[in-house]
Amino acid sequence: MKRLFYIDYPQEHFEGQAHRYRCAYCKQETTHINGKLEGHLPGCEYRVALENAGFECNQLAEPAHEDMADEVD
Ligand SMILES: [Zn+2]
Repeated sequence: MKRLFYIDYPQEHFEGQAHRYRCAYCKQETTHINGKLEGHLPGCEYRVALENAGFECNQLAEPAHEDMADEVD
């Protein structure tokens, strides 16, 4: 099972930096994660949960378009 983008993880602001977000679990910045499961740390709760659910890292996916991850709400 694969998805093109993995962007439904909980995000939080970098303190004092309104335009930067990071995964609430592994603290990787959204621009680093870039919508990819492997952008999270191997021990990230979100990544582990999806991997356990049968999702794979999507090495063959198209490169994510910029601004995909943090334009929610
Ligand atoms: Zn994460």
